[in-house]
Amino acid sequence: MSVPPPARIVEGLAGAIGNTPLIRLRRASAATGCEILGKAEFMQPGGSVKDRAGLGIIEDAERRGQLIPGQPGIVVEGTAGNTGIGLTLVANARGYRSIIVVPETQSKEKLDFLRMIGADLRLIPPKPYRDPGHYVHTSRRIAEELAAQGERVVWANQFGNLANAAAHEETTGPEIWAQTGGRIDAFTCACGTGGTLAGVARALKASKPDLRIILADPMGSGLYSWIKTGEVKAEGNSVTEGIGQASTVPGNLEQGRALIDDAVQVADPVALEQVYDLQLHEGLSVGGSAGVNVAAAIAVARQMGPGHTIVTILCDGGARYQSKIFNPAFLRERGLPVPTWLE
Ligand code: PMP
Repeated sequence: MSVPPPARIVEGLAGAIGNTPLIRLRRASAATGCEILGKAEFMQPGGSVKDRAGLGIIEDAERRGQLIPGQPGIVVEGTAGNTGIGLTLVANARGYRSIIVVPETQSKEKLDFLRMIGADLRLIPPKPYRDPGHYVHTSRRIAEELAAQGERVVWANQFGNLANAAAHEETTGPEIWAQTGGRIDAFTCACGTGGTLAGVARALKASKPDLRIILADPMGSGLYSWIKTGEVKAEGNSVTEGIGQASTVPGNLEQGRALIDDAVQVADPVALEQVYDLQLHEGLSVGGSAGVNVAAAIAVARQMGPGHTIVTILCDGGARYQSKIFNPAFLRERGLPVPTWLE
């Protein structure tokens, strides 16, 4: 066994966020004749790509004086779960509290994790974005009410707060550039807020303007049609969590629009096939959005032809979805194939 040189000592949680491995995906690469590389964000302290956004948003609030290290403060956010986890861990490390608003449809594992790490978790019924009860509006109202009561509070607003994409422009993008030595032809990833895609795209295109940036979208989301026609048109419902949009384009994604060259759409069974394949044959346990990303990277590789290098994101880990995409009863209920080893 070869052991890499010991890592330097890092400063607390913040120092442990980022610098994830870039993993060659053997089977996806062999199937396409391309080099398909996955950024292992499931290895972050909070278990997802959103640790970077959580840290970036809280550091930005501190720079603006909205939070003051060493003094009480509250971070409020509406989230599918992972951003809430990242924000809560960073808040814990800095002495702040967090109030996290999540639609109750999100995986039990993410909700349990949020409770476990001490988030003040507010579960609400899922609502369309135009409804005032949508989790984003609910979280904004909670922050406004606390501010009116004189609390030092920040609404993280991952969808509109550009500190989100900036965190990826400053860390994820440059890491990918350094890890590939600039040998990269395309980057593809799915969008929730678009922070990852927009930030990485900005960093990579600054060094290599002809690199292709491809938005990956789960079937049922309206972002694919937004890229193709300018109109957000959604139909259906994906089992993936944290990605896709039904009716709106988040500010973080909107400001990266000019950098996006194309979009690919991925159906749930195709994404899940990649999730199961990565787990059983590469030993990489990932969630549904990583499956969308790898399936999209394979589609992009087939469009570009052999010999290209395509990078994507392995957003979070499979353990977060044991009760869903690794649960035969859930899969059957959604009309999705149950892999034999889960039976
Ligand atoms: N995958 C998962 C599992 C997520 O939770 C998120 C964030 N909602 C994403 C992908 C998308 O990341 P971003 O918000 O940067 O677009």
